[in-house]
Amino acid sequence: MSQRIVVALGGNALGHNLDEQYQAVRQTAAAIAGLIAAGHQVVIAHGNGPQVGMIQQAMAELTRLDPVRYIPCPLSVCVAMSQGYIGYDLQNALRETLLNQGLPAAVSTVLTQVEVDPQDPAFCHPTKPIGAFMTEEEAKAMVEQRSYTVMEDAGRGWRRVVASPKPKAIVELDTIATLVEAGQVVIACGGGGIPVVREEKHHLKGAPAVIDKDFAAGLLAESLGADWLIILTAVEKVAIRYRQPGETWLDRLTPAEAEAYAAAGEFAPGSMLPKVQAAARFARSAPGRVALITQLNRALDGMAGLTGTRIQA
Ligand code: ADP
Ligand code: MG
Repeated sequence: MSQRIVVALGGNALGHNLDEQYQAVRQTAAAIAGLIAAGHQVVIAHGNGPQVGMIQQAMAELTRLDPVRYIPCPLSVCVAMSQGYIGYDLQNALRETLLNQGLPAAVSTVLTQVEVDPQDPAFCHPTKPIGAFMTEEEAKAMVEQRSYTVMEDAGRGWRRVVASPKPKAIVELDTIATLVEAGQVVIACGGGGIPVVREEKHHLKGAPAVIDKDFAAGLLAESLGADWLIILTAVEKVAIRYRQPGETWLDRLTPAEAEAYAAAGEFAPGSMLPKVQAAARFARSAPGRVALITQLNRALDGMAGLTGTRIQA
């Protein structure tokens, strides 16, 4: 039976630089086309960590070279640019793949603003790493020169960290829903969405933040009344005691079990934790809704119950 699916794509679906992304989207398009060929309605959300960092760095360099002409580019604008750039590559690769398979190839990217709460405590505690890795010395120079907040990222080096507030509402939801109803493959909420706060009258103001794409994808799936939230990442399943003695890969979880493991610290914050939390929330949001966390090329197998971690009430 045809299902409405929101797919969340992670870093491995998009690569870390221009060349990697161009290559990676071809694999990604093949995986998504598999779902469409099976008769499903697909909406795509994606991350943007490396891309928004790259754009932000380029824009900062422009300001450094000509500070009179170019004021620092707001992070919300960098997120908007990343949606356009990633959407372009993804939309293009998907169109080509679908046409090659004789499938309808109407694909659109919707620049999506996502409302956040200006009082969200995340604004006082930046946690989301973006951009390239730096040495400790480079990181300290960035703190001095650009007032960045930096953090050591899981033994891999130093990175800039920015606020990551929770998504509250998707501003362009009606537009996305209309396109989905019309049979289009829609790419939306890229990079977690452009974070905005609601001001006087109808003004939306960009916020200096990057929303977690797993939470944004979960909200998109709930808001569109999707049947499935499929989070595609670099691992086939979710584990408890991950990379420790007694590591156990999980096939099925109820939302309550998922939340209990999350509370017990089984999932790394900033990587697996938001996925499990978004999955549990979606699975709980209405009867029959299923969340699946698996690898990019295993989505159909996961839906058939052959792999992945399935979170279902
Ligand atoms: P994405 O770009 O897809 O969001 P992340 O790197 O943010 O990917 O998150 C996925 C990663 O989370 C996996 O590749 C894995 O290394 C890590 N991870 C952390 N804790 C766990 C866990 N308990 N089970 C499985 N993977 C985990
Ligand atoms: Mg991630």
